[in-house]
Amino acid sequence: MQRDERLVVLFGGTFDPPHVGHLAMAQLALEQTRASRVCLLPSPAPPHKEEQSLPFAVRVKLCQALVEGYDRLTVSTFEADLPRPSFTVDTVLALQALHPDTRFLFLLGGDSLAQLPTWERAQELARTIPFLVAARSTHPLASTLDTVRQQLPGIQVQAVEMPILDVSSSWLRARFDQNLSLCGLVPEPVLVCWRSQSHARQ
Ligand code: ATP
Repeated sequence: MQRDERLVVLFGGTFDPPHVGHLAMAQLALEQTRASRVCLLPSPAPPHKEEQSLPFAVRVKLCQALVEGYDRLTVSTFEADLPRPSFTVDTVLALQALHPDTRFLFLLGGDSLAQLPTWERAQELARTIPFLVAARSTHPLASTLDTVRQQLPGIQVQAVEMPILDVSSSWLRARFDQNLSLCGLVPEPVLVCWRSQSHARQ
């Protein structure tokens, strides 16, 4: 597929830690659009997540380890420079203002799509950027989208075709804390970095 250098996928998240679900959806979003790259945007202070175990700087390092060797997957700390709390709508508007010649898409999982109507200025966000959505077992795309469309009628959504990968950061964190195997669900470079950061903090 011919790449459009002015089309970029934004992938916001907590990435606490990043895992194979994130990697698969980023890579498949890239393959299924003409985007030139997918940009991971770790959130410094996610408005939707109260408890958070890894500091922002560590989550950034882990994201960089996740995309190592993937030319078109990148990591940006852009949100750290924005006023807090960093709402997605503000991040997107700021990026659009900075890069008027670039078109952006926003990548999220089905669970986040279901939550979208509760996000800050959701109507404005839905008018501002099209979405790419990867289904999660708890949130099949068709029914989730039906519900969301009732609240955000103009929303533009494209499905990312991908097998359901039922892995989440919270499950991995719990296992890491208990010294249990992460079953290959966190790529080795991320795991090495995570272990070294956690030793450094002890
Ligand atoms: P937590 O378990 O703490 O909720 P998470 O695994 O959902 O974390 P986030 O950093 O919150 O990770 O996810 C960033 C985005 O990626 C969200 O839009 C989320 O819906 C999506 N996502 C995460 N994991 C998957 C997965 N396995 N399949 C599809 N989407 C996913």
